[in-house]
Amino acid sequence: MVPGDFIACGKRRVIVFCAFRPTGNPARLDEIFRSISLSDNTIAARLLDVVEHDILPLTRKGVAAGNKVFGAAILRKSDLSLVIAETNNELENPLWHGEVHALKRFYELGEKPATKDLIFLSTHEPCTMCMSAITWAGFDNFYYFFSHEDSRDAFAIPHDLKILKEVFGLEPGGYRRSNAFWSSFAISDLVETEADPRKGELKGQTARIKAAYAGLSDSYQASKSDNDIPLN
Ligand SMILES: [Zn+2]
Repeated sequence: MVPGDFIACGKRRVIVFCAFRPTGNPARLDEIFRSISLSDNTIAARLLDVVEHDILPLTRKGVAAGNKVFGAAILRKSDLSLVIAETNNELENPLWHGEVHALKRFYELGEKPATKDLIFLSTHEPCTMCMSAITWAGFDNFYYFFSHEDSRDAFAIPHDLKILKEVFGLEPGGYRRSNAFWSSFAISDLVETEADPRKGELKGQTARIKAAYAGLSDSYQASKSDNDIPLN
């Protein structure tokens, strides 16, 4: 886009959208307006799309191979474009949770943005290992779709909460969700702040994503007795 007259600017949480009038091309201007439509481009909407269209397809393959259902992605704060999406690969290494596997792949990229300019998205509230990895990598945020309680109750994966309790002596939700390193956000909370009818659409998408994960969880649980992942 060619910088020109300033025409619009809006802020949705951490994202600031600005548009400038391109010289002599009204059609391009319409295109830019469509692309920055604030009602369509809230961070909750974009993160749900990334879960559904970028992470889930990878996770379907991962679960078919015998891995867990957890995935992650890294996006640019500037335009919410995707840098990388990944999924759990514990069959190769029990440390390759979706988040750590995404970070591994991220650091294998030739050119990469600084983590201070990036958003970390986790399909499930990160475990203590992943939370620390996100911290050590320099992110100032993470967003998640399912909670620790969901992992325990809907996915039969109680290890996150058990480690919090056994190693750190913390009850569910007992860690500092906002601290000197980062702030964390449940996507479901962000959806609740949307106005109708957008909120209804995002809740519909949320239900669709949950149904997809329920099917994948059933597949993993049916196969896990065959793997030697320590905390399976
Ligand atoms: Zn983890």
